Amino acid sequence: MHLQLPLRLDDPTILQDPHGTRTTTQTVTATDVAAGFQVLDAAGHPSRVSGYDASPRNDHRGARITNIVGADANSLIKRCPHCKIRKPFADFGEERTTNELRDQSYCTECRTLAFGT
Ligand SMILES: [Zn+2]
Repeated sequence: MHLQLPLRLDDPTILQDPHGTRTTTQTVTATDVAAGFQVLDAAGHPSRVSGYDASPRNDHRGARITNIVGADANSLIKRCPHCKIRKPFADFGEERTTNELRDQSYCTECRTLAFGT
């Protein structure tokens, strides 16, 4: 899935950059991704967040993007709830539900092993 930044996050979220600077925001920009960040919860522990991208998909709501745990210089990073591994966004496929276009929760490797798709 091609991702169009910025993302609108579901809730105000703490992003910590590689220097340890924390920002509370509800928007993830290309600058944030290029700088790299980790998603933290209110207690400062690694966390995850979901939201929508800036594309006109889903009747202009944007494509649903889930389980974001951070970013490095190249990509958003998601955490697969099956293998628990943090992987680049491109390692997850896309799915169209009855309601919306969204990314896959499981990484492509886990989906291949579990469902043969
Ligand atoms: Zn996986």
